[in-house]
Amino acid sequence: MDYVVALDVGGTLVKGALVTREGKILEEFQLETRIQRGADDFVKRLGTTVNSLVAKVRGMGGEIPGIGMGVAGKILTKEGKVVFSPNLMPLNGYPLSLGIKEKTGIPVFMDNDANVFGIGERWLGAGSKHENWLGITLGTGVGGVLILNGERWQGDDIGFVGEIGHTIVYPDGPVCNCGKRGCLEALASATALINGAREAIESRRFNTVLQEAYDRNELDAVTISRAAEKGDELACRLFRRFGNALGIAISNTFNLLGITTCIIGGGVSEAWPRFIDSVWNTIKTVNSMVDPGTVVIKRSSLGNRAAVLGAARLAWLELEARY
Ligand SMILES: [Zn+2]
Repeated sequence: MDYVVALDVGGTLVKGALVTREGKILEEFQLETRIQRGADDFVKRLGTTVNSLVAKVRGMGGEIPGIGMGVAGKILTKEGKVVFSPNLMPLNGYPLSLGIKEKTGIPVFMDNDANVFGIGERWLGAGSKHENWLGITLGTGVGGVLILNGERWQGDDIGFVGEIGHTIVYPDGPVCNCGKRGCLEALASATALINGAREAIESRRFNTVLQEAYDRNELDAVTISRAAEKGDELACRLFRRFGNALGIAISNTFNLLGITTCIIGGGVSEAWPRFIDSVWNTIKTVNSMVDPGTVVIKRSSLGNRAAVLGAARLAWLELEARY
């Protein structure tokens, strides 16, 4: 049996798996990213891991014909190069695919992490029965992917596509990681929740249960979600703003493309009950074109395996197209 090595490269961890052509996972593994040690060290460690997997699969009479990767950041997919990744700075401008291929002798296929999320959900997840949809990943930042006519939209291969996180929903809104103001990411991400809570606490506008987490410097999305669940006014407001911004961005995309389905994943989507009502309320009120009765908003069904499975599918599809 042949397997591809599928990798989901994040700022802290690389999640990996050996995956068959049908999407069956033989085994999963994790590696600490430790990118501060430099790109060469990263590629060397990844190469060692892959080579031990090759030995294992060969021992079972199989081969590893390709490696699929999802990497957070701007990616030139054809060159296999990371243009810019805020959480993986040492990889900026680095020919990552080539480096891994040199260490392993195996071709590498790479795309942005949100795009492989979309490929995974389209293949085996919540998007498998939908030809056209917008995918959104809610995490530290906000990623986006467009599945059109059943395939991921690739644009002009200029390093990004579907970047809904940096579409502007409130021009006077909070400052985003990208330096602009009022992007979706500045309102509907873990970073947005934490920054919003911090600012409100520092300006002493709210009596909030989050004060304690703030004092211990432990504000995070999970704590804010728990506070909202208990009815904390500040936390509830932050999630309403979150859902409202998401609803605007989704409505605009539906309007533009004439589509009606959105699939949402990423770690912060765990807080679903805190924001989904605001998303729906916004979709029902802001948009004159889309009939809310036709709108489908779904949660990712592959959870934290979506990107790994998508990376595997990317590799299998590219291998089929090439050979
Ligand atoms: Zn932005």
